Amino acid sequence: NKQVVLLDYVTGFAKESDLVITSTTIDLRVPKGSMTALVKNLYLSCDPYMRNRMRKPDPLSPATAQSFTPGKPISGFGVSKVIDSGHSDYEEGDLIWGAVGWEEYSVITPIPNLHFKIHHTNFPLSYYTGLLGMPGMTAYVGFYEICTPKKGDTVFVSAASGAVGQLVGQFAKLMGCYVVGSAGSKEKVDLLKNKFGFDDAFNYKEEHNLIGALKRCFPEGIDIYFENVGGKMLDAVILNMRPHGRIAACGMISQYNLKNPEGIYGLSLITYKRIRIEGFNCFDYFHKYSEFLEFVVPYIKEGKIKYVEDVADGLESAPAALVGLFHGKNVGKQLVLVSPS
Ligand code: NDP
Repeated sequence: NKQVVLLDYVTGFAKESDLVITSTTIDLRVPKGSMTALVKNLYLSCDPYMRNRMRKPDPLSPATAQSFTPGKPISGFGVSKVIDSGHSDYEEGDLIWGAVGWEEYSVITPIPNLHFKIHHTNFPLSYYTGLLGMPGMTAYVGFYEICTPKKGDTVFVSAASGAVGQLVGQFAKLMGCYVVGSAGSKEKVDLLKNKFGFDDAFNYKEEHNLIGALKRCFPEGIDIYFENVGGKMLDAVILNMRPHGRIAACGMISQYNLKNPEGIYGLSLITYKRIRIEGFNCFDYFHKYSEFLEFVVPYIKEGKIKYVEDVADGLESAPAALVGLFHGKNVGKQLVLVSPS
């Protein structure tokens, strides 16, 4: 059973060499009545929050999920097939998505709202790492619940071509909003404008003045900011927010690898402009997963929602794929194909 193991806690930028591939043996059967299942992992999801799990636990700065244990395989979300089951609700051949180890086979104890059976199999299975999985849920609750959008709102999305951002932009367009996204390359900006239907987009790496770039795109200001990156971008956005604007603090990837997160001077304007900024965690909303599917599946079938994936081939490519997120190497949702069936 090949596994991706964390060598030691990480400080600064995570490197490919922080993760190594090792191999152990695994029993391909689980005891009946054990409430566990042995699964074969088909796809693994690369997610930015996994960087926070690589750091030493710090009680003053708790991460959303427990730190990984050095010397042990890391874990995350994946799409898997049940090989043997000691759990009455699962049987051999079932397809599931949810929390698994970064390895070829995992023994899991299925947990409601952390493991989901896959019923719609007429979509690519890999979608359950993105569009139909955790990032999809994040875009859905973040946009519709936290941003309280309405037709005609002006919406800005950062890291807009990524797993979450590409969906937020499309949801906002479906609602009749004016939507602009930022991303880190020309290729990504082209995707935003030509594939996902954003009204406008810019490459933040080529803008010397982010405040001016936002003013150019939003002469009347921003009603909704879907925050994925933090740091300088958040500052520039706050200065361009309209009164009573809403910011969904989904994530701040620019800060995850920094020893000393950057200060945010624009935060003082939150009060003056009566902006609502609200953090959220998709895990608190997983009970709404079937509601999300009912909402999104018809749009996918009608071709109204598009999704771009970046697939790394084989477990050996998993470390590079994961750390690549923090250098913008992924174009669309980054995932790892472990086994096609
Ligand atoms: P993406 O698919 O968007 O991949 C990460 C992207 O972030 C990169 O491709 C890169 O794109 C951009 N990026 C990397 N470093 C920087 C930097 N220093 N400054 C600006 N942009 C950077 O990831 P996801 O869609 O999976 O996640 C997006 C955000 O949502 C993250 O902050 C993540 O932590 C958060 N999240 C939060 C959840 C929640 O429940 N609150 C759940 C899931 C995700 P580019 O080339 O454009 O720079």
